[in-house]
Amino acid sequence: MVRAIVGANWGDEGKGKITDMMAQESDIIIRFQGGANAGHTIVNNYGKFALHTLPSGVFYDHTTSIIGNGVALNVPVLFGEINDITSKGVPMPKILISDRAQMVMPYHILFDQYEEERLGKASFGSTKSGIAPFYSDKYAKIGFQVQELFDEEALKAHIARVVVQKNVLLEHLYHKPKLDEQEIFDTLMQYKEMIEPYVCDVSAYLADAIKEGKTILLEGQLGTLKDPDHGIYPMVTSSSTLAAYGAIGAGIPPYEIKQIVTVVKAYSSAVGAGAFVSEIFGEEADELRRRGGDGGEYGATTGRPRRMGWFDCVASKYGCRLQGTTDVAFTVLDVLGYLDKIPVCVGYEIDGEVTTDFPTTTRLEKAKPVLEVLDGWNSDIRGIKNYEDLPENCKKYIEFVEKQIGFPITMVSNGPKREDIIYRKSTLSK
Ligand code: GDP
Repeated sequence: MVRAIVGANWGDEGKGKITDMMAQESDIIIRFQGGANAGHTIVNNYGKFALHTLPSGVFYDHTTSIIGNGVALNVPVLFGEINDITSKGVPMPKILISDRAQMVMPYHILFDQYEEERLGKASFGSTKSGIAPFYSDKYAKIGFQVQELFDEEALKAHIARVVVQKNVLLEHLYHKPKLDEQEIFDTLMQYKEMIEPYVCDVSAYLADAIKEGKTILLEGQLGTLKDPDHGIYPMVTSSSTLAAYGAIGAGIPPYEIKQIVTVVKAYSSAVGAGAFVSEIFGEEADELRRRGGDGGEYGATTGRPRRMGWFDCVASKYGCRLQGTTDVAFTVLDVLGYLDKIPVCVGYEIDGEVTTDFPTTTRLEKAKPVLEVLDGWNSDIRGIKNYEDLPENCKKYIEFVEKQIGFPITMVSNGPKREDIIYRKSTLSK
């Protein structure tokens, strides 16, 4: 049985917590896309962790954690995270790395920085983790797969070809120091030493696991609106954030994915540039940012303050549809307990017309939010275990959102801890 956990919006929906929770009942957890450019925050008995590359199953001793072929593998970051968790008392996790995964090269990170510098104010708000240059090279067919580390002569020839091309850009476009072939080779040999014990033919491993009836969890990063095809292009990430891509980025048949849990946050937040229709500003935004998440809405990787907004039904309906959602996990609802009135964005007004269909980027830039104001519940809902025990207005908020987005909310998260979860039966059929 294969399940996926993905985000409906701009990321930071609280996927880490839901993954950690569902990982408990899984045998295998796989990262299938993205790299160290985003992070999950997980709070458990060992402490609070920001994971960027490790799958969220690493805290359990019964799980195998896999870096799939779709991931941008940053070897030093991966090992830094392993050292971090083991130094805090977490037992060494069982890890497998796909032999087809490609590696983030030190020069990818440099190119990311140089390009942001060159673009100045027109930059995309990259986290400068090398992700865009990495995926550009992958699709230009000049990236480095893990399996190449095991043929040194071929690897040297590959490095020589790439360096010629990169050095032209470094010298003439960026005016920066040139790359050295030997240095790159030496770095890759260090990477080889680090990852060799974990390298594996992951798709073959998963084919056997599926046959044996193992429970497999695909762990997505970011959300639908950051997908390069279906998101707010070009303010997107460089690999697909959709559950469908889980099949490709892990190497399994698409029809094996039986459950798609889309994580939706009870209000909106976004990082980086791009249209954000329900965005709020000033004191109103500051207060939500301060109270948001678990200790404020600041980037898990960058520490940047997140942009804040009211819940966006238009974006979330679209986000859930593209994921192929079977279940919605509605998170951080407890945070809204301080509000008397809660505005919700129920439509976009574009050129004088109201729509509930999420538009393409050019039209999105012109959209103004149509807000409906719901009554708040003015109380702390943390600790509540049963749906029936939630305040009336809180249930109304959940049911209103569910109706607007059209996908069943079957889980409500009312706190950062694994056990802060309320299961409910949705009246919507799947
Ligand atoms: P991810 O990238 O989707 O995992 O999102 P983040 O790492 O930004 O997680 C959101 C933050 O909210 C983290 O600090 C979580 O510990 C926290 N969090 C998750 N679910 C809840 C919840 O239901 N209530 C509260 N208050 N915090 C939550």
